[in-house]
Amino acid sequence: MVSTTEKLIHYPMVIGEELVSSGSQDLIDPATGEVFATAAMGTTADVDRAVAAAKAAQPGWAALSYGERCAAMMKFADLLEAKSEELSHLESKNAGKALKLTINGDIPFSVDNIRYFASVVRRQEGAAAGEYVGGYTSLLRREPIGVVGAITPWNYPLMMAVWKIAPAIAAGNAIVLKPAPNTPTTTIEMAKIALEAGLPAGLINIVTGGVEVGEAICTHPDIGMISFTGSTRTGKRIAELASPMIKRVTLELGGKAPFVVFEDADIEAAAHGAVVGAYVNSGQDCTAATRMYVHESVFDAFLARFTELSKQVKVGDPFAEGTDIGPLSSQAQLNKVKGYVEEAKQQGLQVITCGDVPDKGFYFPPTIIVDPPQTANCVCEEIFGPVAVVKRFSTEEEAIALANDTPYGLAASCWTLNVQRAMRMAKALQAGTVWINDHLPIASEMPHGGFKQSGFGKDMSHYALEEYTIVKHVVFDITGDQRKGWHFTTFGEA
Ligand code: NAD
Repeated sequence: MVSTTEKLIHYPMVIGEELVSSGSQDLIDPATGEVFATAAMGTTADVDRAVAAAKAAQPGWAALSYGERCAAMMKFADLLEAKSEELSHLESKNAGKALKLTINGDIPFSVDNIRYFASVVRRQEGAAAGEYVGGYTSLLRREPIGVVGAITPWNYPLMMAVWKIAPAIAAGNAIVLKPAPNTPTTTIEMAKIALEAGLPAGLINIVTGGVEVGEAICTHPDIGMISFTGSTRTGKRIAELASPMIKRVTLELGGKAPFVVFEDADIEAAAHGAVVGAYVNSGQDCTAATRMYVHESVFDAFLARFTELSKQVKVGDPFAEGTDIGPLSSQAQLNKVKGYVEEAKQQGLQVITCGDVPDKGFYFPPTIIVDPPQTANCVCEEIFGPVAVVKRFSTEEEAIALANDTPYGLAASCWTLNVQRAMRMAKALQAGTVWINDHLPIASEMPHGGFKQSGFGKDMSHYALEEYTIVKHVVFDITGDQRKGWHFTTFGEA
């Protein structure tokens, strides 16, 4: 299955039932900066082959009853679960994520997501069949789109792939997915597991590569929908590429989540929530708590406790006992994060560095930037590292204005023990998810997706299932009349 080149494991593409080893790129272990494996490097021709395989597999898959589709997906989920340990290790190795996160988060949540979509497709929602026009019965069909193209980022490689694949195939589509170039391994292994579990060849195709492969997916005439997760910048390009053929597009893009702490909040709870919210996955999370707005009366107390807890976060080898967060996922990401922090220092801002990091590898310590101006780059742009900015506010109105002062709108949280204020904030915050007195929890049954330039369309929940189906209105005449009552509007008399 996996071939070795110079003793390194090589991860091939999965196209139809074939493992395609063409092209090669090095995969770097973020914990050491050294090459640990190689992966195939796809081309436009591989996209063509993958789309052909998907097109061939899709009608047979869609023809299965919902029960049969569900049973096949459940088997896939079971096998994935049985291989959780090796998948967690591989995800941690390739993406630098702490093992305790992949083993307790990424992998089990991915399995749960597949099980959810396998079951929810059996109870789809829509208008009841009925006589909405007298003399006619209307009914709705929810049909698959056909072949879906998906493009995923490097921060949660397997989970982001599953968020696309599970609803797409549950709805009866086949899929061609391109993982991020530097983190393809678990996505490839998952597609192999799908074949092993008995899902039809061609249902899930993985083409590795970068921009060339991504753009070929976006412009392929036989792909009816593009489901993208990644940066807002790339999302704009995807929308542009998909528009000439009016392809359906869902875009799960960047975020810069506000985290608003009021004077009546439980400060200890907020400080713990801030540590987890800001540093989860080394801060490489689209919903990470990056902009903390804290009421002036509790600002010092919150900052002191948040700093104290941040200093306890252990940055280290993803596999080492006691590690809380691992390295950033690439040298490029490390440079980018360093750049924002350096800039803040040059601007004379107070920067609190919380602890040491190993010398080798792409590590960055938890870092807090204190009270930068709202216009500073560290406040406005996605840093995507373990860096939080903490700013003060004085009124609820000001907190809302500051929190919403961003082109992004993926997630937000509010910390208060005042129930009326919590309700007001839930309404006022412009984000696809709003948490009250916590930050981060998500569920397969609930939608995830952005407002504003964080994109449109939803992952997870039955709303995602709807994204991957197309609604057809079917109208039956139930009178048998040759000349209907309304025909006079175009021909003859009433
Ligand atoms: P990215 O936009 O650089 O890349 C994402 C994917 O798009 C990769 O597979 C990349 O190869 C591909 N790509 C790049 N240029 C392309 C092009 N012109 N045409 C087609 N494909 C192209 O993003 P990234 O750096 O890999 O991921 C981090 C970003 O993802 C952050 O902005 C983060 O907020 C976002 N993200 C969002 C969510 C969400 O649910 N909203 C979840 C995870 C990550």
